[in-house]
Amino acid sequence: MNDSASRITARRAALGPRLAILGHHYQSDEVVAHVDFRGDSLELSRRVPDLAAEHIVFCGVFFMAESAAILARPGQKVHTPEPGAGCTMSNMAPAALLESVLRSLTAQGRKLIPLTYVNSSAQVKAVCGRNGGSVCTSANAKTMLAWALKQGDGVLFLPDKNLAVNTAQALGLVPERRHALDIRGGGRRLDLEAARRADLLLWPGCCSIHHQMTARHVQAARAAHPGCLLAVHPECPPGTVAAADAAGSTSFLIRFCQEAPEGSTLVIGTEAALVDRLAKEYAGRKTVLPLRPVRCANMAKTTPEGLAALLDRLDAAAPVRVDPRTTEDANLALRRMLEACAAP
Ligand code: SF4
Repeated sequence: MNDSASRITARRAALGPRLAILGHHYQSDEVVAHVDFRGDSLELSRRVPDLAAEHIVFCGVFFMAESAAILARPGQKVHTPEPGAGCTMSNMAPAALLESVLRSLTAQGRKLIPLTYVNSSAQVKAVCGRNGGSVCTSANAKTMLAWALKQGDGVLFLPDKNLAVNTAQALGLVPERRHALDIRGGGRRLDLEAARRADLLLWPGCCSIHHQMTARHVQAARAAHPGCLLAVHPECPPGTVAAADAAGSTSFLIRFCQEAPEGSTLVIGTEAALVDRLAKEYAGRKTVLPLRPVRCANMAKTTPEGLAALLDRLDAAAPVRVDPRTTEDANLALRRMLEACAAP
């Protein structure tokens, strides 16, 4: 065991039930080796209030630790080893710009429901909460978009345009009823007339990792591996999703590999740390290959060294803080999601 791994093991033993470590599927194997729970961002955040631990360490990117802090019970402290691990998609939707765009789009009295993907800041979730909107994940985006379309005169979906279009297609919402917003110049270039005619307004954000996986890569993978089964994440462009055999969240992609017949070749379009782990897990039984071997640089910022350093100073470390008003409004948006998804 190397130095960082033995320091983490020793600190986990010393802290005992006072500590729980959560890790996203896109974390490296070296980090995942030390987590108590592994999952996607929302699965992990939703575990937080049920954990007895006083210190929750979230290995992922910053918006995930913020979501966990929003859902934490009083007295629980959420930490992240790498507060500088941002998310390019989340950064594409600053809360102040969202507020200004919403003001322009609703100036004529339109009731527009903002629906944010969970990959967004606490402030963006709070803006959605304050404006009758909610949050969605890649697993429940279809349910949540259908819900949001019933709450007002239209929906503003953000930050991920690919997820929005893929979900709209799944709901049969025709392209003529959608409008891609031009948010350049602080929202001064919005085409308000075109926006007024559309039911679904698309924020022009994307995941810098999944957006690189194109339909051409799908065709190349099928040519290189005839008969392969190919599944991608819905943050990939619509042409990629249309060319794949299946699309779904990280949990879906894990299940896709589990349920594939023995001996099959599987090509998976998502972040490479997860695909590499699946390849090792099924080695000798199924061949699991990445559609593109792309790693998220922000996810890779969390290392065993960083985790060990945080655990060494945990009692003195400043936890992730979200101010009370933001927490309350973001919680409202999250609660609407939980209610809409629990409805029969
Ligand atoms: S994989 Fe994409 S969405 Fe996930 S943290 Fe990285 S940039 Fe953000």
